[in-house]
Amino acid sequence: MKVVGLTGGIGSGKSTIARMFQNLGVSIYVADDEAKKLMNTDESIKRRIIELLGNDSYVDDQLNRTFIATIVYNDKTKLDQLNAIVHPAVAHHFDVWKNKQKGDYVIKEVAILFENDGQKQCDFTILVTAPLEDRIERVLIRDQTTRDQIYSRINNQWDDTQKIPLADFVIHNIDLEETENQVYEIHKKISS
Ligand code: ATP
Repeated sequence: MKVVGLTGGIGSGKSTIARMFQNLGVSIYVADDEAKKLMNTDESIKRRIIELLGNDSYVDDQLNRTFIATIVYNDKTKLDQLNAIVHPAVAHHFDVWKNKQKGDYVIKEVAILFENDGQKQCDFTILVTAPLEDRIERVLIRDQTTRDQIYSRINNQWDDTQKIPLADFVIHNIDLEETENQVYEIHKKISS
């Protein structure tokens, strides 16, 4: 079973493109969602997050995402320490999930891939790009958020110019119909 990493900056269109692959029958693992689930359910992870970031990390036993985001997006060391807790658990969970899937390949959708050398765990990588201003506008429409909050996330992601040379496929996601055609072409190449 091949593993295809699907990545791209905030608002580039990863989830939109993942759905296009899903419509072609490909199983999708959304790493950030699974990470959040594990942070809410795995008692050992919860304990270590509280040790690292304090009791406010959970409210009514639920992950206090706003609190955690405020800390880690302003403190790179804390972000690295949080990732060191969460990433190995997600990697293990992904392996178990992957072994239950059918098809030629699965897609792992993940916001941060090249930044953590995650391409080493992938057979192929797909990078989604779009102009920065389009991405910000898309996220402002989609989420209740601010430009500042979006920028604090962008600041933890690499620039597209750093990621493009490392990717096997690059989808420039502007026109959705064109994107769909690119998805189909990539699907044929990976499946063959
Ligand atoms: P995030 O990193 O924040 O999770 P993402 O990369 O997964 O974002 P999506 O959620 O797929 O991005 O897209 C962001 C928003 O932009 C969504 O509301 C989506 O419907 C919209 N969108 C995606 N692609 C396009 C496009 N080509 N043209 C216009 N809107 C788009």
